[in-house]
Amino acid sequence: MTIKTLGIIGGGQLGRMLAMAAARLSVRTIILEPQVDCPAAQAANSQITAAYDDPAALRELAEACDVITYEFENVPVEAATTLANLVPVYPPPKALEVAQDRLVEKRFLNASGLPTARFHAVDSQADLEAALADFGGQGVLKTRRLGYDGKGQRVFRSASDSPAGAFDALGSVPLILESFVAFEREMSIIAARAPDGTVACYDPAENVHRDGILDTSTVPATITAATAQTAASAAEKLLAALDYVGVIGIEFFVLADGSLITNEIAPRVHNSGHWTEAACVVSQFEQHIRAVMGLALGDPSRHSDCVMTNLIGDDMESVPAWLAQKNVLVHLYGKAEARPGRKMGHVTALKQA
Ligand code: AMP
Repeated sequence: MTIKTLGIIGGGQLGRMLAMAAARLSVRTIILEPQVDCPAAQAANSQITAAYDDPAALRELAEACDVITYEFENVPVEAATTLANLVPVYPPPKALEVAQDRLVEKRFLNASGLPTARFHAVDSQADLEAALADFGGQGVLKTRRLGYDGKGQRVFRSASDSPAGAFDALGSVPLILESFVAFEREMSIIAARAPDGTVACYDPAENVHRDGILDTSTVPATITAATAQTAASAAEKLLAALDYVGVIGIEFFVLADGSLITNEIAPRVHNSGHWTEAACVVSQFEQHIRAVMGLALGDPSRHSDCVMTNLIGDDMESVPAWLAQKNVLVHLYGKAEARPGRKMGHVTALKQA
């Protein structure tokens, strides 16, 4: 096997874990990230310290790499497209285009056969009032772009919840109003597609959020085999529609009858898939490396049930207690400062059968 080099755009913990998985397969990694000593660069072969859209840096990256991938969905589409003219970029830039705008994303999901909440584009306060009237005064208002971890959102629970000033309060930017989904639980599926179209799906994880941030992912999820199958078929349809290569994360709302409403997609490895490094022989990170480097996909089956818990901000104080436990994999991201709301690491506790 010849030694190849993978470029990773983005320097966070997902890039770090990709670089670690790459190293185990003798794949060299170069991180493109403006912040020096970022979590990813600490575990990679080298870093190009520049903005994600710096033309000289993109050229340098393309010249040094056999394949380029990314670890966050807000990579400028133009940068990804420019690179794709020089070297394979996986997942395809089209996946970024779809995932960066909630309106484009919902339309694409529906066209690919994945049901979502109902929605209206909201470009003014008048649009918002008309959309809310259509949904009986209930709904979740979100910025179309750049929202994450529940930021840039406003929930309307009933007709008595006044929308006055809401358009301006979210920044007078393009918004989307989604109908309110009365879900029973939230879950996600992590799936991978190889260049030859082979798909491998991990078991769905059940996700619980705290203050808008993922708190725990539990596997198996409390769902029927039929619901798990629906999620896997949805992943297959979406991956084919995007002519996708790499790992994707798809988040769903589970309704009382077991049916699924797709919430959003992430064209990358996903926080709700971190459990795979402890409970599967091939983690989502290695799976992504295998897919984008054209290596055979690994078996996604799990050998243990487990719970992954994120370590956010002050949760770092619990690290010694986690380290003292059996069957717990502790993974820290090398971030010096534990600010509130900052993802510092995660732990996965295996449940022995
Ligand atoms: P998101 O940023 O779209 O993942 O939304 C953050 C969280 O808000 C989700 O994990 C849900 O708990 C909740 N949420 C988002 N959209 C809806 C919706 N249309 N109906 C009900 N709850 C929602």
